[in-house]
Amino acid sequence: MTLVHNWHLGRRMEYPYFESRPKKQFAAVFNINRCIACQTCTMACKSAWTYNKGQEYMWWNNVETKPYGGYPQSWDVKTLKLIDNGENTWYTDEKDEKLSPYGVYEGDTIFEASAKKNLNQWAVGYIPEDKEWRAPNFGEDVAKSNNKPDEYSSLPEHSRWFFYIQRLCNHCTYPGCLAACPRKAIYKRKEDGIVLIDQKRCRGYRKCVEQCPYKKPMYRGLTRVSEKCIACYPRIEGKDPLTKGRPMETRCMSACVGQIRLQGFLDDNPKNPVTWLIRHHKVALPLYPQFGTEPNIYYIPPRWAPRSYLRQMFGPGVDEAVEKFMVPSRELLAVMSLFRMTQTIVFEYKIEEGPKVFETVIHGKKFEMFNDTVIGFGEDGQEVVRTTVEEPIYIRDPKHLNSI
Ligand code: SF4
Ligand code: SF4
Repeated sequence: MTLVHNWHLGRRMEYPYFESRPKKQFAAVFNINRCIACQTCTMACKSAWTYNKGQEYMWWNNVETKPYGGYPQSWDVKTLKLIDNGENTWYTDEKDEKLSPYGVYEGDTIFEASAKKNLNQWAVGYIPEDKEWRAPNFGEDVAKSNNKPDEYSSLPEHSRWFFYIQRLCNHCTYPGCLAACPRKAIYKRKEDGIVLIDQKRCRGYRKCVEQCPYKKPMYRGLTRVSEKCIACYPRIEGKDPLTKGRPMETRCMSACVGQIRLQGFLDDNPKNPVTWLIRHHKVALPLYPQFGTEPNIYYIPPRWAPRSYLRQMFGPGVDEAVEKFMVPSRELLAVMSLFRMTQTIVFEYKIEEGPKVFETVIHGKKFEMFNDTVIGFGEDGQEVVRTTVEEPIYIRDPKHLNSI
């Protein structure tokens, strides 16, 4: 093992390979607050990549109901148990914007837990049995309740609650799957950080299935090798004629009905909307950072769920993120207005200020809404999208009626 820096954990950690970050990292922000669990994203992926023989149980993109749901069943609880050493604690007293924005995690990652237990493998894990891949919508809309007759739900934390979590491969910076493969058949692309299984080299060892904590590599009985989410790389490369050579968001992102998803790249540009939401505004957080893989799908946590549950899921940045989302700043509202306005990947945004349209006090804070125009630019700096925060109103000639 060597030591690499993981900024989610705010510390160095053990990993089989040296730190080597891509030029820019495939990443996305999912606003859980807006998800309706329609599974359109799920079918967008299914109908493109996993519709064929031997893939019947494969759902690279899935949306599960928390806290009870999961695909494969109970994947999170099972993996969390493997790294639980009784002292999995976050220390948040000292933070560093770049190196440890959420504080420091002192528990064991999947790699460290394996080394400590002398397991003679790169990470702890388990291979879900075939029956665990059944029921991809297991636990749909099943709430946690306090089971008292007078129970009712209200903010800040609902007593009876559930929320949806949208999952695909996280194209991790330190992938467990890549570390696990003894044939080095899994690789991470330098240009965009996408993690792929080489279908020619793979021998179906299933080490990736075992050691990906998110359970995203899946074994295909027909070909006898494993497959996983490919981040729709031909679209990312601009191969779809629709965007005329420009990088295009993946199928699952583009399909999102609830406008919860924005995909792009994590880079050093503070005016990149994805980078701004994750690194600068810190409103979007990684899923189970304690696994230690530095996942690259980031979530705006649901404002109604118990904070303790959210903290174990997204780390200690939860309270600040929920606070910011509940009464959004002018910039946050404008950036969120960009979600799902185009299929072309936005690399930079600009806000043109408009008039104030509304103000109130909400959750004890002043909230002002401005009808700003937000503009997105492509990789080449050309404008690719433009929208306003507020809907326009059109008044037609009185000969047209509304009451019909
Ligand atoms: S989510 Fe799993 S399959 Fe995807 S890169 Fe991370 S470890 Fe590999
Ligand atoms: S398409 Fe969007 S709103 Fe529908 S389930 Fe997927 S992430 Fe949620």
